[in-house]
Amino acid sequence: MTRTEAAPQAITRKSQNFAEWYTDVVRKAELADYSPVRGCMIIRPYGYTLWENVQRALDDMIKATGHQNMYFPLLIPRSFLTREAEHVEGFAPEVAWVTHAGGEELEEWLAVRPTSETIICTTYAKYIQSWRDLPVLVNQWANVMRWEMRTRFFLRTTEFLWQEGHTFHATPEEAAAETEKMLDVYATLAEEWLAIPVIKGRKTAAEKFAGADYTLSIEAMMGDGRALQSGTSHNLGQNFTRAYDILFQDKDLTRKHPWQTSWGLSTRIIGGIIMAHGDEGGLILPPRVAPYQVVIVPIFRKDDERTAVAAAIERITAQLPRAVRVHVDWREETPGYKFNDWELRGVPVRMEVGPKDVQKDQVVLARRDTRAKEPVPTPALCERLPALLDEVQHALFARALAFRRERTLRLDDYAELVAAFQGEEGGVFVEAHWCGDAACEARVKEETRATIRNIPFDGPAEQGRCIVDGKPGIGKRVVFAKAY
Ligand SMILES: [Zn+2]
Repeated sequence: MTRTEAAPQAITRKSQNFAEWYTDVVRKAELADYSPVRGCMIIRPYGYTLWENVQRALDDMIKATGHQNMYFPLLIPRSFLTREAEHVEGFAPEVAWVTHAGGEELEEWLAVRPTSETIICTTYAKYIQSWRDLPVLVNQWANVMRWEMRTRFFLRTTEFLWQEGHTFHATPEEAAAETEKMLDVYATLAEEWLAIPVIKGRKTAAEKFAGADYTLSIEAMMGDGRALQSGTSHNLGQNFTRAYDILFQDKDLTRKHPWQTSWGLSTRIIGGIIMAHGDEGGLILPPRVAPYQVVIVPIFRKDDERTAVAAAIERITAQLPRAVRVHVDWREETPGYKFNDWELRGVPVRMEVGPKDVQKDQVVLARRDTRAKEPVPTPALCERLPALLDEVQHALFARALAFRRERTLRLDDYAELVAAFQGEEGGVFVEAHWCGDAACEARVKEETRATIRNIPFDGPAEQGRCIVDGKPGIGKRVVFAKAY
């Protein structure tokens, strides 16, 4: 029956080399592969299904908060990009240009969008005339391109997929509320769907989006203790609406520039799922977004056993709730091979069905996160399986949160901060006081490569002195970490 007894190719040990472990998991779990163009990646069906599940959850929330989807072109005229000075400067080195088309050089170069603020502002300058046209609440799912020198699957690729939300408002208060609302949406996606605990907060001026008044972010700890900025929401104030001459007549008949926000979450979050939950065996996917929540592995030796097992599996799959995503693995491989393969690919629950199980009218469920096994009577499956998937979902979140707490230090001494980030490991979050001065922030970055991830919203008010220069702090601790 079996073509091979060999287990799927081994992956690098996570504890030995996290970066190689990550690349091995991405490729061997068939999430993505290298492309002929350096820095781009091919997202394979298993990886794309995972992205689609994330996308669906987020898209539902974007729509539930009143936004509509639209689509703007991939190419942006050069002149559009140069109007908001800080924005241009922030993006210039990363922009890829189309210089030739139709067999000749273009009169005006076209940028492959690095983000769409400029073209959206140019367009909405026409659509927005009156307070009646506000708010504008739109979003687009698209690919963008930012030229990268050092790339890594999902985390930093030249072309990536994302959504970018763009909104215009009649008052600054409304724009500020929108900026926070969308950060909350991202936090809900991360915590409730992806089982990744996040720290919500505000970026420092040095780390904000080019052209924004301020940027909010969610920051998550990965399995090596580094941070991943997993979603950002920007309050653009009137910076772009001034530069792009967007004006509306308000109720008091005065003409004003609207207040604007933009917010984005990308395929980078797939890297977050891999790094937040994976272990030495490979991926561990949160059930709510896993392409397959349950994989059924038939176990048999003789033909009559196969027939009995196949009939039992047919009965089982027919009675399972339709919402449960199930895959039956009938490949010509040994059960051991399949166990390893689905473990590597992170399927939350494996169901084993063998001849003895058929006799007892039961199956064996094995959860991926703890590898615990339990026999379950077939009639109880409809109840037990969804409950078990929920348990796995919650256990993953709890484990990631406990890990972050373990790896978070509260420090007040600069030498200790430097020591905490020493070595290639450097995987900790450090909560420390900071005076608000960009020079102190820059010094930490230079000496440790750690940056201020954000100023957490939830951090308790606390007076303290800047860990770098001893000046009075901003009134709460900030989070330093090395980041992806
Ligand atoms: Zn300072």
